[in-house]
Amino acid sequence: MEKPHILLINPWIYDFAAHDLWMKPLGLLYIASVLREEGYKISFIDCLDRYNTELLKLQNLERPKNKKYGSGHFLRTEVRKPDILKDIPRRYCRYGITEEIFIEELKKISHPDAILVTSMMTYWYPGVFRAIEFLKDKFPNTPIILGGIYATLCHDHALNNSGADFVFNGNDINGTLALINKLTGIENQFRYSISELPSPAFDLYQNIDYACISTSFGCPYQCTYCASKLLYPDFIQRKPESVVSEIEYFYQKLGIKNFAFYDDALLVNSDKHIEIILDEVIKLNLYPYFHTPNGIHPRLITASLAQKLFLSGFKTLRLSLETTNKKLQIETGNKVTSEEFEEALKILKTAGFGKDGLGAYIFMGYPGKEKEEVNDSINYVTQKGIRPFLVEYSPIPGTFEWNRMIEKGIIEGNIDPLFHNNSVFLRKFLSWEESDLQKIKAMVRRGQHRA
Ligand code: SF4
Repeated sequence: MEKPHILLINPWIYDFAAHDLWMKPLGLLYIASVLREEGYKISFIDCLDRYNTELLKLQNLERPKNKKYGSGHFLRTEVRKPDILKDIPRRYCRYGITEEIFIEELKKISHPDAILVTSMMTYWYPGVFRAIEFLKDKFPNTPIILGGIYATLCHDHALNNSGADFVFNGNDINGTLALINKLTGIENQFRYSISELPSPAFDLYQNIDYACISTSFGCPYQCTYCASKLLYPDFIQRKPESVVSEIEYFYQKLGIKNFAFYDDALLVNSDKHIEIILDEVIKLNLYPYFHTPNGIHPRLITASLAQKLFLSGFKTLRLSLETTNKKLQIETGNKVTSEEFEEALKILKTAGFGKDGLGAYIFMGYPGKEKEEVNDSINYVTQKGIRPFLVEYSPIPGTFEWNRMIEKGIIEGNIDPLFHNNSVFLRKFLSWEESDLQKIKAMVRRGQHRA
């Protein structure tokens, strides 16, 4: 019997700003890989694929205009701003391929037996809904399963509003596959372990400038504002040898040079994990460029680790500092102190890292963090000779901070996920003035320039 045909969709982003900072739907690519291994027929449309042939034609480009190391801008199309965001003085846009291109891509696909749609940020749900609308129109009798971060963190909202037939909660890959089987009449039982999945199916892209890698899932820390524990209750590290063969395969077979680590806690147990991986990469004489868009823990950086990070090819290292306010550092999870941050910087510089590759994340708009403290943190990082990068706080349902804000009456538990948007939250709920925001952003730009 012929195996079912599954269509996988990564929808658009709808937001005030978005940038392709090594952004790929890793979970969906893992599922694609497992399904393919089980003999299913796979079709895949990534609305954020900057290499989409029709998109390039539309822009009169032969290839996307990349920044250094494969990141770059998405095509941006202004769309009507949802009414509840109308007082945010910024243009609201759809990022990715045009709707016309999406419709044409759907026409090329034979009738699927089930459709899997993923979701990322909770406040990007309009892109998910729009994709589902088109899918329903084109394949009215095909069941649509929605999964991913928005579907997990805002499960009821997705159930009630997305138009999907099934909304999957969490990261249980066997559960997702069991549902696909049930819908397609297959009796196969899946028993995959998250730490031993086949490599994500990056080969589904015709062209690609980078791959994303998770050497682990979850995080042993428990910061008050973070969703990591909600998405991955357990901290699981993959076997180093499986990560190494994945990197080697992508590098040698797919010609990928840039790798972004998606780990929440890349450096935990480093001597038994990342150091082994990096030793092997160095031994294999691979020359990749590694990046950590997620931020790494300064506390865990040792001289031996820093040397391996440098020698194996880390080009973008973002250190998670968030704030220099001691009280806030402790209250939010105690993952780093300023002294540990300074020590890490010293070690990294000794290992060979210069100001180009190093940066520190600073929180802005965290409830209880005053504007002056943001300024202080930016100044502090700049004085240390590295570049500050702002992380605008985005409230996440189910976190400690979310519950605290409800108790304090800052938000209501049922606010529309559009209000989770980092560009919206501090303007709407913390009453930040536009001028304050612009001043801080200008300060960051100056800091980045100076460092
Ligand atoms: S250390 Fe980072 S990933 Fe881990 S809980 Fe804290 S913020 Fe989340």
